[in-house]
Amino acid sequence: MRLEKIKKLSVLVTEDILCNSCGESCKGERNFNGLIEAQVVSSYDSTHLTYTNEYCFSLCEKCLSKMFKKFKISPNVNDDDKKVFDSYLSSKGKK
Ligand SMILES: [Zn+2]
Repeated sequence: MRLEKIKKLSVLVTEDILCNSCGESCKGERNFNGLIEAQVVSSYDSTHLTYTNEYCFSLCEKCLSKMFKKFKISPNVNDDDKKVFDSYLSSKGKK
């Protein structure tokens, strides 16, 4: 015989993640968007960060986009969805 009892459980839910740069929310319609809770650990020979410290931060998409535009070398962009779509169009003779 099973004896049962209803228990209330507490669940920790992340309601929002704020961008460390602008302070705005990283919340999208379904996910948190941008660079979320990135971690950087400086080493003993670090020259610009305090050595052996661990930095954790988030950047929203708007701030990431601004940062990418300041790069001297643009980040590589992997656009697999576009390649698949272009391949599909080519197979259908539409491109
Ligand atoms: Zn931001």
